[in-house]
Amino acid sequence: MADIVLSTLNARYIHTAIGLRSIRANLKEFRERTTIAEYTISDQLIDVAEKLLALEPRIIGLGVYIWNGLQVAQLIRIIKAVDPGVIIVLGGPEVSHLPLRLELESADYLVQGEGENNFYRLCRELLAGHRPEQRLIPPDPPDPGRLVLPYDEYLDEDILHRVCYVEASRGCPFCCEFCLSSMDKTVRYFPLEAFLAALETLWQRGARNFKFIDRTFNLQLATVTRILDFFLAKEPPYLVHFEVIPDHFPPPLKEQLRQFPPGSLQLEVGIQTLNPEVAAGISRRLNMDKIRTNLRFLEQETRAHLHVDLIIGLPGESAQGFGDNLNLLTSLTRAEIQLGVLKKLSGTAISRHDRTHRMVYSPLPPYEILATDQIDFQEMQGLKRLTRFWDLLYNSGNFPRSVRLLWEEGDTFQGFKAFSGWLYQETHSTWKISLKRMAELLYRYLVEELQQEGTRIAEAIAGDLQRIQGRPLPPLIRAQLKTGSKKPAPAQAITEEAKSIGRRQQKHLA
Ligand code: SF4
Repeated sequence: MADIVLSTLNARYIHTAIGLRSIRANLKEFRERTTIAEYTISDQLIDVAEKLLALEPRIIGLGVYIWNGLQVAQLIRIIKAVDPGVIIVLGGPEVSHLPLRLELESADYLVQGEGENNFYRLCRELLAGHRPEQRLIPPDPPDPGRLVLPYDEYLDEDILHRVCYVEASRGCPFCCEFCLSSMDKTVRYFPLEAFLAALETLWQRGARNFKFIDRTFNLQLATVTRILDFFLAKEPPYLVHFEVIPDHFPPPLKEQLRQFPPGSLQLEVGIQTLNPEVAAGISRRLNMDKIRTNLRFLEQETRAHLHVDLIIGLPGESAQGFGDNLNLLTSLTRAEIQLGVLKKLSGTAISRHDRTHRMVYSPLPPYEILATDQIDFQEMQGLKRLTRFWDLLYNSGNFPRSVRLLWEEGDTFQGFKAFSGWLYQETHSTWKISLKRMAELLYRYLVEELQQEGTRIAEAIAGDLQRIQGRPLPPLIRAQLKTGSKKPAPAQAITEEAKSIGRRQQKHLA
């Protein structure tokens, strides 16, 4: 039983909600009367409601984000229907800015912004039997130096099986209009010695998977250097993830990054657009020379796993403009390229473009862009499918050589876009396509549609798949390899051979 239950619906089990942990850590005399109960968006809401109410709380605090907004809105209606007396307090980005986009009438209180101070004060009132009249509680950002760090709130199970989210700072000095962090321009740092001591405790408890949620980790060299030194002194295996800006890698930072062993460092490099006009339109810095130099450095001189981001649907950017970004980026790096779709985040300045660029967003979470003056709805849908297929073929790393045959030395975007359109016509789906089926579809497209030479394509795909030992080849690929012909084997021969191989392999193929 607990007086207060803090909960949210995470996107996946492996994610841990650092926000809930920070709230509990700072609940002073109520901390011991507070339980954290996390679920995922895949859980049945009725079951979540049952589990929360079984704890018999007087107050339920729920974190609301774009990925769980609809589910949380339904969850609180179920909880209130069963137990109207329980007090529901919401926090998180989706309640931090007006107008609210979700139907949250059933909630009793909404705490805006960083919640540590305000949630404590509200609970103190409520547990004393007072019901404040003000439902919407405005932000009161805490001084990180006065907060209790949240890391003791991680359970052993979290540490061993989930990602440990950590933060050395809050806020970002930059103004990219699509980003929530652009509204919190003062960067505030947690006291470094205390933070490093907390990292050490987590490490001693067995934590090896750390994700820093600092928005621009490589901003303040003095802090970054100490944190990187902390990890460089540790024995691998471990994995630490940082989000970095692409234009700030001073020499001492480069020297440290060079020292990380393979598999231990993951860097998320926000690029978003490479078009200077589009970047200026959304108040984003863009220094192409530094991007080129630093991507080359990261790729050639470090062993970090790189993950770079581009956004589709920015104000003023056409489909071909986005394609030009993709072409340039694939020429600069072989890193994973995350293709995101613009979302209208609550309270951000991106809304100032709504009229001038005829920006149409989905009215439902996650509020993705549906159309702009440059990209109509149909084309946007095609681009969204392209992002999904890009993940399956390019970012997955399953087809490192053969995916490039879609464009050879030519136009990455046009080559992949044509394939993406064909693939969707064949599958009518962007998910649940097995690796085996994807390999056969890629083969068929390259051979039948692009008229490429069958054995060469089969060899390329087979080479990609067999980078993992013991992975069987799809029947179509084996059949082509078996015919040994330069041209694709006649369809009938392939089909018969494939059928016979398929029967033999049926038990082994994924
Ligand atoms: S996109 Fe990155 S650099 Fe821009 S405001 Fe957000 S966190 Fe800061």
